[in-house]
Amino acid sequence: MSRGGPGRGAAPRVGVLALQGDVREHDRALRAAGADPVPVRRVEDLAGLDGLVLPGGESTAISRLLTVFDLFEPLSQAVSSGLPVYGSCAGMILLAGEVLDGRPDQRSLGGLDVTVRRNAFGRQVDSFETDLAFEGVGSVHAVFIRAPWVERAGESVQVLARVPATDAGASPAAGRVVAVRQGPVLATSFHPELTGDGRVHALFVDMIQEARG
Ligand code: GLN
Repeated sequence: MSRGGPGRGAAPRVGVLALQGDVREHDRALRAAGADPVPVRRVEDLAGLDGLVLPGGESTAISRLLTVFDLFEPLSQAVSSGLPVYGSCAGMILLAGEVLDGRPDQRSLGGLDVTVRRNAFGRQVDSFETDLAFEGVGSVHAVFIRAPWVERAGESVQVLARVPATDAGASPAAGRVVAVRQGPVLATSFHPELTGDGRVHALFVDMIQEARG
């Protein structure tokens, strides 16, 4: 898990947890952002990574597979050692210190002092798209698929984006926090890997360069 890597200037080596979920889409987005993505399926794959992506998918399934493949402990150690990590949707849930409406056996890798609610947007808005203001990035077209939202964010957590009130009207989704950063950990409720807009992945690669620098 050394972040020594090949040195600043070389493309950062970014693992993509490849047990379940939209791995290929993250791989493509990372490549476009100038990173060198590698799939992570076994403990050995964690060696020499500069950063790690936890993809969208199904957090309960990924959590179970992490245990089956003996990856849970090494990954939570990597997160607590300060490896830059980006989680989208299910990945955000895996990083959250507390999960509401999760499965009782669902485990957290830590990294984010937040409480998230799984499948928070409810039946009618299971999946939806909206434009939102993303701190430091600008206007982003966000795709939500059975997404979580952040119900509580600790003091050291920076809120980067919320659901705009205009879209959600008086609905409970209005103003909900959907992107956060805590030190080297970034998470979004939505899926920038699906829209071909590379700016969120570019932000993550910048965070990795910061950590290496
Ligand atoms: N609902 C999923 C979960 O609980 C997340 C959905 C997604 O990643 N698109 O993990």
